[in-house]
Amino acid sequence: MPASTFVLSASLALLSGAAPAAKPAAAPSKPAATVKASAPAYPQAVAEKLIGPALTEGHAYARLAELTDGIGPRLSGSEGAEAAVQWALRSFKADGVKAWTEPVKVPRWVRGEERGEVLASARTRGHPLSLLALGDSPPTPPEGLTAEVVEVTSVEQLAALGDSVKGKIVFFNHTMTVAADYGRFAGLRGRGPAAAAKAGAVGALVRSLATASLRTPHTGSTRFEDGAPKIPAASIATEDADLLHRMLAGGPVRVKVVLGSSSLPDADSSNVIAEIRGREKPQEIVLIGAHLDSWDVGTGAHDDGAGVVMVMEAARLLAKLPQAPRRTVRVVLFMNEENGLRGARAYAEAHAAELPRHVAAMEMDAGGGRPVAVSLRAGAGGQDLVRPWLPPLVALGAANFSAREAGGADLSPMGPARVPFFGVEVDSSRYFDVHHTHADTLDKVDPQDLARSTAAVAWVTYALAEMPGTLVRPEPPAQPGPPAAAPQPKVSGH
Ligand code: ZN
Ligand code: ZN
Repeated sequence: MPASTFVLSASLALLSGAAPAAKPAAAPSKPAATVKASAPAYPQAVAEKLIGPALTEGHAYARLAELTDGIGPRLSGSEGAEAAVQWALRSFKADGVKAWTEPVKVPRWVRGEERGEVLASARTRGHPLSLLALGDSPPTPPEGLTAEVVEVTSVEQLAALGDSVKGKIVFFNHTMTVAADYGRFAGLRGRGPAAAAKAGAVGALVRSLATASLRTPHTGSTRFEDGAPKIPAASIATEDADLLHRMLAGGPVRVKVVLGSSSLPDADSSNVIAEIRGREKPQEIVLIGAHLDSWDVGTGAHDDGAGVVMVMEAARLLAKLPQAPRRTVRVVLFMNEENGLRGARAYAEAHAAELPRHVAAMEMDAGGGRPVAVSLRAGAGGQDLVRPWLPPLVALGAANFSAREAGGADLSPMGPARVPFFGVEVDSSRYFDVHHTHADTLDKVDPQDLARSTAAVAWVTYALAEMPGTLVRPEPPAQPGPPAAAPQPKVSGH
């Protein structure tokens, strides 16, 4: 075990219960003098300068409070999203990091009145439904939509029903229980309502993609093709999905849904970009990103406020180093990940000529949990290149390679340019308890977990920007195109 590991373990143990003002520099001194074996491949002093403050200063969490409690929800095109853009610019400036905006046209979908109920019948006196319209859902008529419910568990099962769903509300049920199920069932929300509309259904209800519920519905985007039929679509709390399932076992069930959502003309918005210019190879770029927009319910603390403050804090700490890393570190706060991916596409288009010089890209978008591993999507030899730089992550619990490939929705438009992806995988086991709900608020983020992931992000960013070699570019993705159509090998937040 390298001496630095002891230093960082000691720092972590000493400082985990310490006041935010504690100074990591006061911990053990000059570890290099006691190294018996060969010196590590990385500069230990830099590791301490990045990881120590990330663990002890509480800066990322304070920023997350500004973003969530101060600004609040940040759906694309909203005043909150624009306030977040200005906040990010101000914050980078305060940190001494050069930053600017780049234009993105974003869809503007606005939630309205929304309610639903299981109608009374001979078998029940009726029940209210706890629901949230899905992003891009059209409204119902003002008086609401009333129809019989048909339950399916897959788009294939829907197709097999043929004409029998005409005039009905299709209810997409599933069996998500753990975070790893998200990728398997997210397609029901993303593609199910469009498929139901094509089959002649008049509405869609989707069981929330959730790992816990106190009758909390989880929203998210659904996609209708241009020119194809659109129907009102909402997510319902898992308890209400179970209720519908039980009642449907006993006979027909009728539901009434009222959704007042509207789609306004596209709005002008921005990606926020910040940069620390490399000292030797400024033309080579290590991109670290997160998405600045959030859903309109909750305050986007885990999704993706946590990712935003992690990468901003990494930049702040890197900018304070006595010398910049070899390569340029570029922070990209993407706009419109949640309901359009327009910011990611705008970045990949505007920087197409530079993508061959993007030597690594990482997106943090799986919540503010503790770090558990690092991940890669690169050509041969990637792990061997990175491994000598991992010891500083031992004390953080993340000095191992994940079996999952690195990725991220906002990175996907860079896939065809074969940009190598890197990741700090965080513990997402509780992420989908609150993901896309009213409950995604600051109190759900553990300050120490956030600090540890921030430390890991700061260190790996430095490592990628400083290590002598660069990752080999991966093979192009098997299915280039919209990320929704691609398989999702990892728990990706969205
Ligand atoms: Zn999301
Ligand atoms: Zn997200």
